[in-house]
Amino acid sequence: MNSLVNPPAASHPLTADSRAMIDPFGRAVTYLRVSVTDRCDFRCTYCMAENMTFLPKKDLLTLEELDRLCSTFIAKGVRKLRLTGGEPLVRKNIMFLVRALGRHIEAGRLDELTLTTNGSQLARHAAELYECGVRRINVSLDTLDAEKFRAITRWGDLSKVMEGIEAAQKAGLKIKLNAVALKGFNDHEIPEMLRFAHGRGMDLTVIETMPMGEIDEDRTDQYMPLSELRGRLEETFSLEDIAYKTGGPARYVTVKETGGRLGFITPMTHNFCESCNRVRLTCTGTLYMCLGQNDAADLRTALRASQDDAYLSAAIDEAITRKPKGHDFIIDRNNRPAVARHMSVTGG
Ligand code: SAM
Ligand code: SF4
Repeated sequence: MNSLVNPPAASHPLTADSRAMIDPFGRAVTYLRVSVTDRCDFRCTYCMAENMTFLPKKDLLTLEELDRLCSTFIAKGVRKLRLTGGEPLVRKNIMFLVRALGRHIEAGRLDELTLTTNGSQLARHAAELYECGVRRINVSLDTLDAEKFRAITRWGDLSKVMEGIEAAQKAGLKIKLNAVALKGFNDHEIPEMLRFAHGRGMDLTVIETMPMGEIDEDRTDQYMPLSELRGRLEETFSLEDIAYKTGGPARYVTVKETGGRLGFITPMTHNFCESCNRVRLTCTGTLYMCLGQNDAADLRTALRASQDDAYLSAAIDEAITRKPKGHDFIIDRNNRPAVARHMSVTGG
């Protein structure tokens, strides 16, 4: 890990917004994903082991520090910001950060403030999220069957998530459902989930499992290539490729029979690195320039070394010069994760 320890030289003055973030491959970084906590009230089998060791709370950036870091990224050209985790809505007082970041939406400096959530705490936060400028959220949901839901999340309660979805829609939030496609678990349920989502005005995106972090199961048994899933869906539905984009890696189709949109996120069968516009910040201030690589930059040191954002800005610039061309995910029988950290550290 590389950290910047010397303040920028006086001969090369920097302001927080003096440079757009362009990586060595010419890609502009305009999207920041922030994992606000590595903790979660679920233990999804493909994401976490049941007995996880979480970061000591003292290592976490405060919400004020996270706000300062995010605001520096926004000054440097980030236009879309997603809060994720772990479960973002279990972080204590998280609405303080959402409200603070909402000021950038109001001022027109940020196009979108959004979050990815498991939905368990959504019912009590939905109205306030809307009030703070959030308009769209992603809710992760892998099955509509309460027993299967409990099995895949280990600790989750489907009825709470359903209440959350209802409350969010009532509050005016647009919802996209995300389902990880798991062989033999929910692959046959996707048509039903499609009808459920589209029947309620929600998009659905299916995701391939990625080899991140040690879990208790064998990933080769869980892995479902989406090319195969698409082929199966096409036996029942007419799927039409469309150019629709949300700034993320999903490729979308419209489903003629339901009139809704279905997205495919295929990091394994078809990687999307050439158009990558994002970096990921953890709750300890570590910046990952790629989800699938280990290289990272320590921004906490720069953040705490000086109240001058120019210093932080220079540390971010240095990190962006190290953004790699792409990831090297592969799932094979040796069953070792491509990166040791869990998805809950960098937020998916
Ligand atoms: N707790 C929140 C949630 O579940 O929406 C946010 C964090 S979670 C890590 C973000 C997304 O990553 C979820 O949609 C989850 O299904 C997905 N995910 C977790 N581990 C994954 C893995 N190994 N491969 C693919 N997707 C994964
Ligand atoms: Fe928690 Fe989200 Fe990981 Fe499930 S996928 S264990 S809800 S962080």
